[in-house]
Amino acid sequence: MSEQYSFETKLLHNKYKFDPATGAVSVPIQHASTFHQQEIDSFGKYDYARSQNPTREALEEIIADLEDGFKGFAFASGMAAISSAFLLLSQGDHVLISEDVYGGTYRMVTTVLNRFGIEHTFVDMTDLAAVEAAVKPNTKVFYIETPSNPLMKVTDIKAVSDLAKQNDAWTFVDNTFLTPALQKPLSIGADIVLHSATKFLSGHSDVIAGLAVVKDEELAKQLGYIQNSFGAVLGVQDCWLLMRGLKTLSVRMKHSSEAAAEIATYLNNHPAIKKVYYPGFSDHPQFDIQQEQATSPGAVFSFELHSEEAMRTFVKNVELPVFAVSLGAVESILSYPAKMSHAAMDPIARQERGISDALLRLSVGLENPQDLIADFEAALKKTAELHYI
Ligand SMILES: *Cc1c(COP(=O)(O)O)cnc(C)c1O
Repeated sequence: MSEQYSFETKLLHNKYKFDPATGAVSVPIQHASTFHQQEIDSFGKYDYARSQNPTREALEEIIADLEDGFKGFAFASGMAAISSAFLLLSQGDHVLISEDVYGGTYRMVTTVLNRFGIEHTFVDMTDLAAVEAAVKPNTKVFYIETPSNPLMKVTDIKAVSDLAKQNDAWTFVDNTFLTPALQKPLSIGADIVLHSATKFLSGHSDVIAGLAVVKDEELAKQLGYIQNSFGAVLGVQDCWLLMRGLKTLSVRMKHSSEAAAEIATYLNNHPAIKKVYYPGFSDHPQFDIQQEQATSPGAVFSFELHSEEAMRTFVKNVELPVFAVSLGAVESILSYPAKMSHAAMDPIARQERGISDALLRLSVGLENPQDLIADFEAALKKTAELHYI
């Protein structure tokens, strides 16, 4: 039914715009853990809520539609979604993975999957020759995060998924940073899209959730089997919060991406800033790929000050953004990757990847960007006192 509508309209006008039983314009929260069965030999559509529940089902269908996928799955967190997708693998399989992947994914792959005999190789996914050279006969998954966290490197989803197909492997894409409002990996070759729905999809820093969307029916069956077997499903209250957040996804992404472009440009021209990592700059190494595969560079970028001391002075003096782990919320969030998202990565691995101790990441919220710029200007003046006066 919603095929003919644009993305913005589909967020509101989909199969779940009202409840057919009552006309209620919000998806009912069905708390039941189990469902009465009329027959001994054949059960109804719902039997037990870990396997399926009408509230979760609504969310799963909505996200599948938004990502142009065959089927969606809701999990208790982004890591539950990512870990469940990895459970599609078996002992002896090998994963090729972006080297500056989210810290929790790094931890999962290097300290948990390895104990089950699943091997991994970290690779710079932006270097196709390096990716090709790292493929092994047992490579089963190419795991991409684009733009990557926190250095905003952009991977060519189509090129990598073509390579994966040639090697009979799946492509998983963590689409947390851009969301289907800005990038749809399944439509350009990926097999599974993963989300920390804790971030932009829910958008209000008030729910922990994960989503996966699968392109093809056979793989959907396999992931559905894992979801039911492993059981890390999302609770119904959180499903509802997430569906509510999704309704404003387009307007939030639009405002935040435009504001991010303004603030990134301002910081890029500031003498107290050493470097800004933002895929919207025409001199970003993968600017063209970003333009090609997404409709915007998104609302997150990173920037490096001249020293750790300057970074500390800036963070102490800045007033508007919350200083916190996470991203993708109505309020701007400033994070310190070395101590937050990438704390699980050992310091040497971090340095090798260019995640310096003076690097900060900003996720732009819904404030007026001029207020954020004024706030940053005042805080950067304090760092200038350190270095230049
Ligand atoms: C936050 C995050 C995750 C993990 O999600 P949780 O909901 O915290 O479990 C995975 N990938 C990326 C890119 C993230 O930002």
